[in-house]
Amino acid sequence: MERGTDMQKAAAILREGGLVAFPTETVYGLGANGLNPVAVARIFEVKRRPAFDPLILHVGSPEQAADLFLYPEDNRIKALMERFWPGPLTIVAPRKPIVPDIVTSGMPTVAVRIPAHPIALELIRTAGVPVAAPSANLFGRLSPTLPHHVQKQLTGVDYLLDGGKTQIGVESTIISLTGETATLLRPGFITLEQIREIIPVEMANASDAEDQPLAPGLLKSHYSPEKPLTVFESLQKDPGSHAGVIFLAHDPVRQNLKAHIINLSASGDLIEAAAHLFTALHEMENNPEVKEIYIQKVEERGIGIAIMDRIRKAAYRHGN
Ligand code: AMP
Ligand code: MG
Repeated sequence: MERGTDMQKAAAILREGGLVAFPTETVYGLGANGLNPVAVARIFEVKRRPAFDPLILHVGSPEQAADLFLYPEDNRIKALMERFWPGPLTIVAPRKPIVPDIVTSGMPTVAVRIPAHPIALELIRTAGVPVAAPSANLFGRLSPTLPHHVQKQLTGVDYLLDGGKTQIGVESTIISLTGETATLLRPGFITLEQIREIIPVEMANASDAEDQPLAPGLLKSHYSPEKPLTVFESLQKDPGSHAGVIFLAHDPVRQNLKAHIINLSASGDLIEAAAHLFTALHEMENNPEVKEIYIQKVEERGIGIAIMDRIRKAAYRHGN
């Protein structure tokens, strides 16, 4: 992986769908253009994450955040942004349709913050796009605080923006504004008391977990379509015109089906399939002609592990 301090180059790579590792206040982040679902899918592939977690979008200005939130005029959003940004406070609120489903794990909300690290900030502003960025480590391994930690663990990163050692800090505080009252989803560097000087906040409790998952990846079923969902390996017969069939790879039976078909990748590319998975489930869910959904199994290797994790969770409540 190329390592250096060329900001223009790093920003161009991000804009064009590549992956850039960069320093933040806490640890090194693995960044992708947050509006490009295929680029975001590559984050999960490179980190070898077995599940898709919702990612935080890092932006360079309140105006850029307003392009992502459905109700940017919400006074609570404005007050929190003014008091705590740039800084380690993440705001979760209803999202605009422009935010890809893979960023939010299919949820109708988006998590956004402006980071305070000067290199992160300059990168995001130069790239001009929101940057999805979890920590730049392999799943389950130590978080990287030095550039060579990133080099040692990850392959498939297009550029490593060298900012020396990061300050080891706590993760960002996450506040959800999706309900009547704001809730604290994750404690962090900014305290509840500090936030309460600005707006009323409650602790999230376990019963909120279905709507506002503290750790969405841990729930057996957190995004699950209301329609019966069946996983298949290869279609034996046409399930009929009331069915929706989602293909992830090639299947010889695909031609001439009466079912509603979504093919996630014409070439069977799993990164591309991952990028469009949630959107396809939503589309089938919203199509009134579709009464039941069939989805194709993929090999559990690389990003296929995360795809199958998500598919199993979506199918869980139907006992498939
Ligand atoms: P990090 O591990 O610091 O990159 O933060 C990612 C965490 O942010 C996820 O594991 C979630 O807990 C939280 N998060 C991101 N997006 C959302 C969302 N739309 N709703 C609730 N929590 C979210
Ligand atoms: Mg994380």
